[in-house]
Amino acid sequence: MLTKRKTLKVLGASFISLILLPFNYLYSAAKKIINPELTDEQKNIMFNEGTERPFTSSLLEEKRVGFYHCANCGAKLFASNAKFDSGTGWPSFSEALPGAFNTKIDYSFGMKRIEYHCANCGVHHGHVFDDGPSSTGKRFCNNGLCLIFKPEN
Ligand SMILES: [Zn+2]
Repeated sequence: MLTKRKTLKVLGASFISLILLPFNYLYSAAKKIINPELTDEQKNIMFNEGTERPFTSSLLEEKRVGFYHCANCGAKLFASNAKFDSGTGWPSFSEALPGAFNTKIDYSFGMKRIEYHCANCGVHHGHVFDDGPSSTGKRFCNNGLCLIFKPEN
């Protein structure tokens, strides 16, 4: 039988879960696997805000004219003319297409960073910094595994 103290503890935990449940539900409901071919690595980045190893993306060498799309939902996110070589080992862009992303403040790893995610499907793409070299001053540091490049022709 539960003691009074244990009962209160259990009730307390349940109460907190009940309060948090709608938020967890809303958060996870916003992010859905749309592309059934996503790999485990892609899912880890997109749904757990993981980061791919630097200098591993084939998109680092991509220089053709076209657009970068969300690998989950296919939304158009960056134009090729915004891409630049930041030397960081991740595909980098000076600006996103209007309305492509939403942002939130990320305090993980003891840093304050601006995380951004696809406005259409909600999956994580990367972080944006204010040290970009172009007139926008922005550097979108994007996981290559979250992007699909489609050349213009
Ligand atoms: Zn998306």
